[in-house]
Amino acid sequence: MTVFAVQQPKITALPIVGMSETFPVRRVYCIGRNYAAHAVEMGHDPDRDPPFFFQKNPDNLDITGEFPYPPRTADVHHEIEMAVMLRSGGTNIPLKQSLSHVFGYALSLDMTRRDLQGIQKKMGRPWEIGKAFERSAPVGPVHAVQSVGYLEQGRLQLKVNGIVKQDGNLNQMIWKVPEIITYLSEFFELAAGDVILTGTPAGVGPVTKGDVMDVSVEGLGTMTVRVV
Ligand code: MN
Repeated sequence: MTVFAVQQPKITALPIVGMSETFPVRRVYCIGRNYAAHAVEMGHDPDRDPPFFFQKNPDNLDITGEFPYPPRTADVHHEIEMAVMLRSGGTNIPLKQSLSHVFGYALSLDMTRRDLQGIQKKMGRPWEIGKAFERSAPVGPVHAVQSVGYLEQGRLQLKVNGIVKQDGNLNQMIWKVPEIITYLSEFFELAAGDVILTGTPAGVGPVTKGDVMDVSVEGLGTMTVRVV
């Protein structure tokens, strides 16, 4: 038996709707600018340039329904995203086999310290301090493909204090889920437990302490996250 010299880090495990088992998180990939209208609002052309990715940490995923306002920022933005959970992986996955690696889906938020991200972008530096901070990815329970099927379309909506801020459809993704999986697998070895945040539609904006975010994706129910 392996004996660790320091306390063993916890594995992030997400609940699965209708199952007693949990989903263990290995890696978290996030795609940028994957909805045309959001690319435009961030000042970019919504063309089909190759997708780009950044990562969050597995323990940034948070199922508590609370989002603590993070330090060192005055401009934290909400980004509603559909998360895709993988049951298996590999490298150079053919497009036709991509979907067979999907275990399920979940509601998620790619919370972003936009002010810090902006500074990093300008300086050509990595985005981690803007993106991969503590509890930066509130997430709902996992819905298995066997219950909800493969999701290719469906409304995503985010409200802040009851007011609609983001309202899009999964079918507006520039790079579809199978394409994202194939593309990622050409650069990384994907595996069971990997999570992919698939990008956000237009309407991102700031939240402050006390705000309530209501998140929904057709087929995945709703999730409420309070900024505390
Ligand atoms: Mn995002």
